[in-house]
Order: sequence, then structure tokens, then C-alpha cells
Amino acid sequence: MLTNLKDLDPQELEQFIIALGEMSYRSRQISKWIFNRYAESFSDMTDLSIGLRDKLCSFSTIENSLNLDSRMDSSDGTSKYLFKLFDGNKIESVLIPDGKRNTLCISTQVGCAMGCTFCLTARIGKIRNLSTSEIIDQFLIVNKINNHSITNIVYMGMGEPLDNLDNTVRSLKLLTSKDCVGLSPKRVTVSTSGLVPKIKELGNRITINLSVSLNAPYNEMRSQIMPVNKAYPIKVLLEQCRKFPLPNRKLLTFEYVLIGEFNDSDNDAIRLAELLRGINCKINLIPFNEAQPIDFKAPKDNKVISFQKILWSYGLNARVRKSRGRDILGACGQLAARYPLENQKRKFIN
Ligand code: SF4
Repeated sequence: MLTNLKDLDPQELEQFIIALGEMSYRSRQISKWIFNRYAESFSDMTDLSIGLRDKLCSFSTIENSLNLDSRMDSSDGTSKYLFKLFDGNKIESVLIPDGKRNTLCISTQVGCAMGCTFCLTARIGKIRNLSTSEIIDQFLIVNKINNHSITNIVYMGMGEPLDNLDNTVRSLKLLTSKDCVGLSPKRVTVSTSGLVPKIKELGNRITINLSVSLNAPYNEMRSQIMPVNKAYPIKVLLEQCRKFPLPNRKLLTFEYVLIGEFNDSDNDAIRLAELLRGINCKINLIPFNEAQPIDFKAPKDNKVISFQKILWSYGLNARVRKSRGRDILGACGQLAARYPLENQKRKFIN
């Protein structure tokens, strides 16, 4: 079977090239062709010898691991890209323009095992992890379509990135290595529901922004909407967050989905502020998107404002993030909602 070179991180590619009997610097030339010049075949790589190109053809490939199935554009400028995988499964990426920023939200799994009750992706369950090439190709394809204008990446699409840690870290290395895509780690954020041991491992393996989906200030309340809390309760999670090594001058982010009459009271805001006191962080408040078949309500506008003001009164950096792309189901917690769950093949669980 041919090795897809986009499944290898920079060190692994170097080893692969050395195993072909070539000098290690060739791997950096090849990376530049794949990630900077968007080469589509080895024959494009004109500064490599014909002998090396022949060897690469015999043992490897740089073919796209995804096929673009469709694109939906929202009235607010957001675009959702639906990709078909080799096994017929589908994943989504969402491009969110915001002033000079053009942020791509990418997926790391088909479905998700974490079972957050406010999230439509959770309804699919976990079908399988994405390979490294399936993660990085979301960026390469959407960036090419959009004239290389993507400035930021968030790992907040379908799936829990830390439940697919090896491929997530490989893809992060490809995005941030100067010989590959070369984005600053400050512009790349990994989001997690709170898999505490994996947060620790992520911090040991790479320096990157972290965003933690908190969503409730009490364990009982959080466990109701995020089963991961039963294994890793809030105190344990926040202890690990305090130790996470961020890029210079970056803050940890906490996401808090405000659900009407569930976690949006003034007392909830006060409790949240007390919990986060002393942590160098910012808080994104995300009013819940009402989406069938999930029974939660959106919060009232005055509750959102009051919640934010209470956090401010404690000196916390809290902003309200309006979900983008509602009309195309590209908003937070809505990915994978548009096509029937039975279309997802379930035989590739890993
Ligand atoms: S919110 Fe994120 S972690 Fe939770 S089920 Fe949805 S995709 Fe998975």
C-alpha cells in the first residue's frame, strides 16, 4: 500500500526519505511542494531528480484524501464544506470570515463519542477517527479554493480532537512547521470537552492554543450535558488547565454555551466567575442554537447580557460569540445535522 505523505509529520517524512536512500533535506523540499506550492503530483516537483520522483511514485502518494461533495454559503458570509471520505462517510469544515480574519473550523472524527447533549454531532456517535491527511486536506482544499486567505484554524468541527490525539498532533505539526504550512501556533486553537489526561499529553507534545468547553459551573449540571464530567470533574479539569503551556502572551479560552433556563442564571455566572478567578483566560459565551431534535432553549437576550456583565464585574474577559452560519447548519453544535445518520457507515470504528 502506498504511504500518503500527508499522513506523516515532518520528522516521520524525513525518516521515510532517508529510508529511500536519500538525503534528509529532500524531505523539506517535498514538504514545501505539498504545503506551500500545493503540488498535485510528484512530476510537479521539478527540483527533485527524476530518480527520486520515480521512487516516490513507487512507494507513496500525495493524492487528496477527501472529495469536495458540496458547499453551502450562509447569508452571513460563512461557508460550509461537505467532504466525502474514501469509505463513503462525510465530514464538514466551516469557513468563517470576520474582518481581516478568515478562520477555518475543521473536523477530527466522523461523529463523536463524547455524547454532549446539546450537540447534534453527538447524535451520530463516533464512527471513526480521521487520518492526518484527512484532517490536513480540509485546510489545503478550502485554502486553495479561497485563494490562500485562511489566517486561523480552530479544531472545533465534528469530533473530540483529543480523542484522536496522535493524528491531531501530527496535523498540528504540519500546520505550524515552517517547512510545511508555517502558520503561527498562536493562530491555531484546539478545542476539547475536557479529556484531562489528553490535555496534559497535548501540552507535552506541542505548544498550541487551547479552548475548553466548560458550559456549567457545577458538577451535577455539567455531568447532565457533558458525560465526560463524570470521569474528569470541574476541579480536576481546571487544575490541568492552569498547568497547560500556551504560546507566549496567549490566554486559555473557556467556551460556555448558554442554554435558556438551564445554565444562564445570575447565580451560575457568579459561580463561574469564582471558579475561574486567578486563571489567565478569556470566556466565550455562546447563546445556544435551537436545533431540532434537541430540546434545549436559546437564552433570552437580557440573560446573556446580565451573565456577561457579572463576569465583567469580576474582572473576567468575557465576550458573546454569536454563532455564525445558522441558516446552513454550520453553527456551533450543528455540524453533521443536514444528512441522515444512517448514511454514515459504522464499520470503521477505531
Ligand atoms: S460538543 Fe464537541 S465533544 Fe461534545 S459531542 Fe459535540 S463534537 Fe463531541
